[in-house]
Amino acid sequence: MKWEDHSSVDVGFQAAPVRSAEQGKLLRVCFSGNYGYGSAGNRDATYMDAMFRAADEVLHPEGVILDFSAMAYQWGDMLGKVLNVPDRWRALEEPPFAIVEGADCKGALRSLLVDDLDWDASSLDWIFEDVDQAREFVELRITKNANMFQLQLDRKRDEAALAFWKMLGEEIGPERCRSAACTRLRIKDSVLCRIHHFEQIQHSACPFS
Ligand SMILES: [Zn+2]
Repeated sequence: MKWEDHSSVDVGFQAAPVRSAEQGKLLRVCFSGNYGYGSAGNRDATYMDAMFRAADEVLHPEGVILDFSAMAYQWGDMLGKVLNVPDRWRALEEPPFAIVEGADCKGALRSLLVDDLDWDASSLDWIFEDVDQAREFVELRITKNANMFQLQLDRKRDEAALAFWKMLGEEIGPERCRSAACTRLRIKDSVLCRIHHFEQIQHSACPFS
């Protein structure tokens, strides 16, 4: 079976390391050739989408650029499905995803997004004419999302620490804490005071007192 029998669009792939991180890949999918006019493009869309999803599944990149700069496109709403971000990024407000447009698809791509897919024309900041700019944009989003993820992790860790601290309860004694030189009383079901028990279990300095 030859793919060319099913679509006149060619699909190429490039993977590059993410510059801003120690690991992770950036996937660029390059489409070229002629996208069929209107519903004649449906087969092209199906083929393009399948190739893109396959590469995404195999590589599992940190960011994706869809490069349409060498593809001619006039109209056909099935192309919209190729523009969907991978499912794992659906919940992200700023998915690490950009597209590159070229002279032979420019107006039509934007018209598809705004007129058919209800995007606000002013929110299309993820469309570029220059692939380096698209890459910079995607890299920035990767960094932002990673920072946000780290913040969420930190917050969860802090919440868990506070819950643990609360659970330990008051220092009821009457015996003193067994940690050397500590003059506090022990908590219930422990030979240590609240702070020393916390630190022994959490393996970190107790932020509470
Ligand atoms: Zn103690």
